[in-house]
Amino acid sequence: MTNELAAYAAHSSTSRGRLHQDDETAYRNEYQRDRDRIIHSAAFRRLEYKTQVFVNHEGDMFRTRLTHSIEVAQIGRTIARALRVNEDLTEAICLAHDLGHTPFGHAGQDALNNCMCDYGGFEHNLQSLRIVDLLEQRYASFPGLNLTFETREGILKHCSKNNAVDLGEIGQRFLNNEKPGLEAQIANIADEIAYNNHDVDDGLRAELLDIEQIRECELFETHYDRVKQQWPDLANGRLRNEIVRKMINHLVSDLIRTSEKLIEEVNPSDIDSVRTCGKTLVKMSDSTDKMHKALKKFLRANLYQHERVKNMADQAKETVSYLFTAYMENYELLTSELQATIKESSGNDDGLSIARKIADYIAGMTDRFALSEYERIKQILS
Ligand code: MG
Repeated sequence: MTNELAAYAAHSSTSRGRLHQDDETAYRNEYQRDRDRIIHSAAFRRLEYKTQVFVNHEGDMFRTRLTHSIEVAQIGRTIARALRVNEDLTEAICLAHDLGHTPFGHAGQDALNNCMCDYGGFEHNLQSLRIVDLLEQRYASFPGLNLTFETREGILKHCSKNNAVDLGEIGQRFLNNEKPGLEAQIANIADEIAYNNHDVDDGLRAELLDIEQIRECELFETHYDRVKQQWPDLANGRLRNEIVRKMINHLVSDLIRTSEKLIEEVNPSDIDSVRTCGKTLVKMSDSTDKMHKALKKFLRANLYQHERVKNMADQAKETVSYLFTAYMENYELLTSELQATIKESSGNDDGLSIARKIADYIAGMTDRFALSEYERIKQILS
């Protein structure tokens, strides 16, 4: 197999480029640069203390948003290399895909979205783009990380048509019903493969799920049987790990084979033909996709709806809503830097930009910082 990039891959030399003029670099291609900028960002470091499913302080062994993102990148790179598309770009998208997540995972996002309902709402995907385009303050000559179009295209996984209208070139594909490049398609599915499998692992480890119960999922059962046949006396921890790694391998191998066939059929001559061909080219076979979806459904019913996870979610919602209301009513509770920017903008609008600044501030918090702010403010206001 040749390692040369396929014609349909994203090529650094024909990138649609960056929003702001940038200096040249001698040793890295444009997508390596994007990846490096993401790794050096503050938002990336904060992922270490943000919830994936389990709140960070529940235990040291569970996935955090950071380790989740690294697992997504690992799976994404394997697929990218096998399909001869751009591994650096795939890695950049995977590492950045969850930057916009609030503290406390989806519960935090739902709460912040409720708080922001009169101010344009809150969506983690759009927030990831906002972080890399605007909020990171690292470079002297531009705001944000000034990433390439292709990385930003991959980060913006979903977008409503309403929001797309305001986003210019990057929102256009949602209006035209076009697909993103293959690297973005890979990152999207690598995310699902990663969380479905690591949530089985974490759920079992936390004893919120048990092995017998997951055997109702065909994908798990298939590999459970194979492992049991080969190693009938394997201890639980190793049994779990062996099944999970076999499930990942099953999904990834099927995905590569199926996508190879699809790409061959459509035979796109370049990345623009991938975008306009009207088909998703990175996908699993129907039978494997069905098993994968069944596993996802099982996790939704049995792990994400589990009493303990739901209690955590309720607490998270309370924390985020409390912080938002408290800051909106008492600007003096915010950092002096934020107070200064609010003073600048007040009078210029009807509170929209102030609410957005507060949402940006809360979204950027780690779980533990949000909890400590909650305690601090409760004391001040009581
Ligand atoms: Mg993710």
